[in-house]
Amino acid sequence: MSDFSATIPHPTSQQAIDLELRFGAHNYKPMSVVLNKGRGVHVWDVEGKEYLDFLSAYSAVSQGHCHPKIIQALINQAQKLTLTSRAFYNDQLGPCEQYMAEYFGYDKVLMMNSGVEAGETALKLTRKWAYKVKGVPTDQAKMVYVSGNFWGRTLAAVSSSTDPSSTTHYGPFLPGFQIIPYNDLEALESCFKSDPNIAGFMVEPIQGEAGVVVPHEGYLQGVRNLCTQYQVLFIADEVQTGIGRTGKKLACDWEGVKPDILVLGKALSGGVFPVSAALANDEVMLTILPGEHGSTFGGNPLACAVAVAALKVVEEEDLAANAEAMGQIFRSRMHDLQKQCSLIEIVRGKGLLNAIVINDSEESDTANTLCYQMMEKGLLCKPTHGNKIRFAPPLVINAEQMNQACDIIAEVFIQFNRL
Ligand code: PLP
Repeated sequence: MSDFSATIPHPTSQQAIDLELRFGAHNYKPMSVVLNKGRGVHVWDVEGKEYLDFLSAYSAVSQGHCHPKIIQALINQAQKLTLTSRAFYNDQLGPCEQYMAEYFGYDKVLMMNSGVEAGETALKLTRKWAYKVKGVPTDQAKMVYVSGNFWGRTLAAVSSSTDPSSTTHYGPFLPGFQIIPYNDLEALESCFKSDPNIAGFMVEPIQGEAGVVVPHEGYLQGVRNLCTQYQVLFIADEVQTGIGRTGKKLACDWEGVKPDILVLGKALSGGVFPVSAALANDEVMLTILPGEHGSTFGGNPLACAVAVAALKVVEEEDLAANAEAMGQIFRSRMHDLQKQCSLIEIVRGKGLLNAIVINDSEESDTANTLCYQMMEKGLLCKPTHGNKIRFAPPLVINAEQMNQACDIIAEVFIQFNRL
């Protein structure tokens, strides 16, 4: 009998960590906290310690952990019908598609499961549109991405990545991808000018994984204009920024621009179930024909019931407005802290997608050490790209909870700064 008995009904933190290390692939390096309960902005570890969750599963749990209305929708639907595949119709998909199409203002929706699948869907739609509508010669369509992008882990996603941890030893990569700098309209225009076969430009309105990189005001408007001028599809990856996270329904709404393809995931289900989607108008969406693209689970009735409930919660509780108000508190407190704390190089973000850039090299362990110290004091967050710490709590957070979190951050940073 192994020491790592999988029959341990309630493992301690250390036992749960040991089991993962022994029997799970080592494709993640989680912080050493083992959670078993969540409610609203809080999570608890197996020893019963309470934490404020300032990661929200990378912005997926925007509606708060185990939102009662979303969980109820899940339970109700789970007791009726969970999966039909798309071989048959189900009574949830049509109403969900209608709800989403009207909610975001597109003709049609194509539902998938993970964010990266929705990104792949956008890529396939773009290539199909290029051949069928734009008239690009067969197999010549090009996609443009930006450096620092992150849209998942499939080979298409890593083929467009500039992050060595995504690409090293995973080649050969998909052809037909060009990468230009982020937040650079001149580079975008000269790229569009140089090649009539460019079909699409995919971009995050704020780069999440790269460390909450906010482009200059006017960038998204410029992207929209150039895409229209050069007949290139503008694909907005709002998997992390969408659905209220940045203080508007979509981050693109900050500049009043409408992408040709909208890619959503994460908070589309409130973190309850994997649901993602690509949305587009008929000219783009109807280029994909029956049998050409899909997923066994995409558009399943359980996902549809959960997605509608999750979107309704965002509306009913006006979570975008709350994200904006709470984000103002966060950034104002952090800017005050920055004045006392040379450790803080930059505070940046929008709504409740924020980051602190630590005044230390990307290779340093400082951000990680700070995250562990905050964890000790009951706040969970994680570094992204070495010296940046992202702060993205559930959008249901209130001012008292936000100030409590800011107190913890201030205490830890000031103490570390003195050392
Ligand atoms: N797009 C963005 C902007 C993301 O941040 C992520 C994940 O972090 C993805 C796509 C991929 O989503 P998923 O992990 O659900 O495949």
